[in-house]
Amino acid sequence: MSRGLRKNLISLAVALMILAGAMFTASVEYRSNVSQQKQDLEDSLEVVKSNWENIIEARVLGLKGLISYVELHPNFTQQEYEAFAKGLYESQNQIVTNIALLKDTTVTYVYPYNINRLAIGRDLALEEGQRNFIRYTKNTRKSIMDAPVELIQGGVGIVVRSPLMMEGEYWGQVSFVFDYYAALQTTGMLDLDRENRIQLTFINPLNGKLKTVWSNYEEPLTDPVIKSIRLYDTSMKLYGMPKEGWNGLSQLFYFILITGLLLSVASFFALRQLITVKDQLQENQLTIREANERLQNANDELEATIHQLVASEKGLKEQYQEIKKQEETIQFMAERDPLTELYNRRKMVEVLKDIFQSGDSGAMLLLDIDNFKDINDSQGHVFGDRVLREVAEVLLESARDNWSVFRLGGDEFVLLYQGEPDLKLIEEKTEEIRRELIVGTKVEHLMNHITVSIGVVRFPRDGYTMEELMIRADIAMYTAKRAGKNQCQLFREEMIQDFERKIHIERQLRKSLEEQSLYLLYQPVVTAETGEIRYFEALLRMGDNSISPGEFIPVAEESGLILPVGEWVIRRVVQQLKEWEEAGLSLRPVAINISPRQVRGKSFAALLHQELERNQISTEFIEVEITETVLLEGVDENIQVLEDLRNRGISIALDDFGTGYSSLNYLTYLPVSKIKLDKTMKDRVLAFGKERALKSLIDLIHGLDMEIVAEGIESQQESRILASQGCDLLQGYLFSPPVTAEEAAKMLAG
Ligand code: C2E
Ligand code: MG
Ligand code: MG
Repeated sequence: MSRGLRKNLISLAVALMILAGAMFTASVEYRSNVSQQKQDLEDSLEVVKSNWENIIEARVLGLKGLISYVELHPNFTQQEYEAFAKGLYESQNQIVTNIALLKDTTVTYVYPYNINRLAIGRDLALEEGQRNFIRYTKNTRKSIMDAPVELIQGGVGIVVRSPLMMEGEYWGQVSFVFDYYAALQTTGMLDLDRENRIQLTFINPLNGKLKTVWSNYEEPLTDPVIKSIRLYDTSMKLYGMPKEGWNGLSQLFYFILITGLLLSVASFFALRQLITVKDQLQENQLTIREANERLQNANDELEATIHQLVASEKGLKEQYQEIKKQEETIQFMAERDPLTELYNRRKMVEVLKDIFQSGDSGAMLLLDIDNFKDINDSQGHVFGDRVLREVAEVLLESARDNWSVFRLGGDEFVLLYQGEPDLKLIEEKTEEIRRELIVGTKVEHLMNHITVSIGVVRFPRDGYTMEELMIRADIAMYTAKRAGKNQCQLFREEMIQDFERKIHIERQLRKSLEEQSLYLLYQPVVTAETGEIRYFEALLRMGDNSISPGEFIPVAEESGLILPVGEWVIRRVVQQLKEWEEAGLSLRPVAINISPRQVRGKSFAALLHQELERNQISTEFIEVEITETVLLEGVDENIQVLEDLRNRGISIALDDFGTGYSSLNYLTYLPVSKIKLDKTMKDRVLAFGKERALKSLIDLIHGLDMEIVAEGIESQQESRILASQGCDLLQGYLFSPPVTAEEAAKMLAG
């Protein structure tokens, strides 16, 4: 339904309701008016009615009086009757026109006589007009009324008659006739006649037929007010209604109707307007709500955007900070060593560049941790890293004033001094570092303290480029290592040759290994008592023998070449034993020199067993020579390896006794069965005539159930002294230099 139609319908419905209400109210007013009118007319008619009744009642009373008179005076005369009737008549207000007395049905007496004398003697039962009434009264002995009656004496009257009884017998009748018009007048009926339609009817008691007594309107009245006037056995009915009909159309009625109509029309338009306004309002509200929603949405979006912006700004800030942090980290990492967080080589290059540019002088100390490779190999990298950090910490501590510290990588550190490179100052610094390393590093599992070898260069004196200085510092440091580690070496020009030599040796060793130009010599070890060959020591030679083992073995150890070289030696020795055995020679054990590096590598033992097994050589023909340096790192593990060896029947000798710490203490827990007294030790003892000291050492060794071998015996005298002091075995040029396998075979055969 369209909004316009709806609006009109609602307005119309309300308008109609108002109109209906008004009409209802008007109709109520109308009916109330009508009923008021009716009430008024009824009141008037009531008066008329009661007048009628009074009139009739009075006549009836008059009749009763007459009857009583007659009954009391049955023989009355005309005069007597007239006198009585006269009084009666006069009391009837001149309404009554005559008072008659009928003997049976014949008029006998009448008053006033003069006017009515014609009626005397007439038998009314024979008269057309009244016959039935007369008979009725006579037969029924009831009073009766008749109206209007054409009177014999002329005119129209109303007749009331009653039976007259004498001693219980019908005697006659009495009647009053009264004037019809006078009665109409007296009752006031004619007063109403002007404004109203009035009808008076009378029901004939004899036949029940209705006859109109009086009327001023021909037609029957449609909605009259009715009053009933009872008369003996019959009744009169009085009808009345206004001439122009019942009319409730009062001013109030019109007022209500017109007001209702106006109100209805007004309400129609007002409501229409109201609905229009309301719809408009609703529409506006809807529009406002929509606009509001859009506004809210826009607001939300704006807020979200702001949040996003704030968030992304925050994100950007965070990213920026992250980038900055990363940059800082990158910067930090770029010039730092990640492990120790010391400056790295790169930073050192920069610093040196600045120093060189400024023309400053200074010193560079290159530090290398001693045996770090062994520590790393035996204890693992985690442990190695700890060592590096401990050392870094100590170095950082000492890098005060004009000193700065760098880690170049591996176990190499640099302490840089900017200023005049005073030797005393450098010495103090290196001493401080070595001291601090002893007290400052707290790494467990190390039997000895961490030590460093230091190479020192000064600039511009030793070079004025980074490369030059680094090479020379390296050489100085290397020299310190070669000189027994845990020391500081100031660079000297000669070191360059040493270094170059070392490089040369390493190269030669590699070449020999590849070209299989390594070979073994065998030096016999004889019993001090008889000079009999007890066993041989296998001594390695390289190529043209231009480089001695004393030179190439340390290079091999430092470079790690000792492992493949050592394997080659083991294979070769067992092979040799096999060959000798196959040659039918009576075998002597062969001692193999095993470097600490090999002991830590462990694989040598397995290889040795494998080779012996493969060649069916008994373990009693193999001896292993180790040095006390096996005790430097990984003592427990190394001892384990050695114990395994001994348990498998391979005896172990401690070589070079007297060159290092030479503590007698470790003799108690090293699983060795021989001690080889180093040539230098032997020489010193003998040179200073410390035979007794030698004796007690030998006794002590014997007390440990070990044999003692003296090395480097070149003279008989030495041999004698040592033998006399209880030395078990002797080795030296005096008996035989290291010889080839063939020569050794000859010795075995000899
Ligand atoms: P070392 O084990 O103490 O060997 C004894 C060294 O003394 C040998 O030197 C031998 O030639 C030398 N020698 C023997 N008698 C005399 C003497 O009367 N007078 C003097 N002056 N020297 C004598 P070489 O053969 O030059 O070996 C040097 C060192 O190289 C050996 O000392 C040993 O530690 C090492 N070496 C040799 N061969 C091997 C090897 O196959 N493996 C390992 N790891 N080291 C080896
Ligand atoms: Mg040896
Ligand atoms: Mg030796």
